[in-house]
Amino acid sequence: MSEVPCCHCGELFPSSPRHKNQRFCGKPECQRARKAAWQRHKIQTDPDYRFNQKLSQKQWAKTILATGRNTAKDILTKQKETVSFKPSVTAGPGHSHLMKR
Ligand SMILES: [Zn+2]
Repeated sequence: MSEVPCCHCGELFPSSPRHKNQRFCGKPECQRARKAAWQRHKIQTDPDYRFNQKLSQKQWAKTILATGRNTAKDILTKQKETVSFKPSVTAGPGHSHLMKR
């Protein structure tokens, strides 16, 4: 059995003869990285998967908002650009009269 370096943490781990393409060790963080890499690959090669990801993006944005991450701002700005016909949730009462007219 040979040892190969993990693609994520760089540590050597014994590669299983059954999974010759295994490039990530068994650590939880490295398994997450493996999944993310697989997802990226899938998005690039599978249009159906990409479409499904788009559908779940709203739910994802909600989750990010709930956790209060900075990235939520980026998502909202992006959504405002693409879905401009929808009234913004962030508009306060001071701006509502502008939007109705
Ligand atoms: Zn690793």
